[in-house]
Amino acid sequence: MLTIYSISAFKDNYIWAIVENTSKQAIIVDPGDASPALDFLHKNNLGLAAILITHKHSDHSGGVSELISHYPNTPVFAHATENIVGVTNTIAAQDIIHINNFPCDFTVIEIPGHTLGHIAFYSAPYLFCGDTLFGAGCGRVFEGTAEQMLASLKKLSSLPDETLVYCGHEYTVANLQFALHVEPNNIDAQKRLKIAEIDRSHNKPTIPSTMLLEKKTNPFLRCKLQTIIHSVETHCHQNLPTEVDVFRELRAWKNNF
Ligand code: FE
Ligand code: ZN
Repeated sequence: MLTIYSISAFKDNYIWAIVENTSKQAIIVDPGDASPALDFLHKNNLGLAAILITHKHSDHSGGVSELISHYPNTPVFAHATENIVGVTNTIAAQDIIHINNFPCDFTVIEIPGHTLGHIAFYSAPYLFCGDTLFGAGCGRVFEGTAEQMLASLKKLSSLPDETLVYCGHEYTVANLQFALHVEPNNIDAQKRLKIAEIDRSHNKPTIPSTMLLEKKTNPFLRCKLQTIIHSVETHCHQNLPTEVDVFRELRAWKNNF
């Protein structure tokens, strides 16, 4: 049986631990910092079976070398184009990752935009999507184009409604405040913000969410809706004929919010 644990790192990062309870092995996703991950493994008496990295930014990959020095020969998976030190297995779209002792395989989904080699790891119902899809938001488009980022978000949102979305940062409250600025009458977003604020006041993660909840409350997955188009067009004083135009302007709006 698998259990997923969050390990807090830096100000608002989540390192994810996928734990197989019988063999007492863990897969660590996005260890930006080694020490909280090492603490977690030691406290829970776990071995390290593999490291999965969604993208090259140091808040997701900076702890790899130190983790490997404590657990030599651990396989480390990331996309080839990300050029991350310590990676042993470079992977690409549709690759299937099997880890010894783990009952499930992970499918690699390429989701360029935030970085060009950004990937997600999916094993139903679990999705680890780094800095591409956030709770009620999305990552900044650093290396790719708005077209690429929108296509990546569509790939993720085509997964089943019950998919559990494990992203790389705790940004949900701020993202929902923006979402409600764009779509003030979205009742699902209003409800979600109340719950998220309560969770955060108890220092509880708002993650994972479900893909269904993202589709109902995340403005970046809703760029085809008339309410969003109208709101973004009003904000930027332009006609936005395509969905990508709406997405690009919505992302620009959020950058300055
Ligand atoms: Fe990042
Ligand atoms: Zn990040």
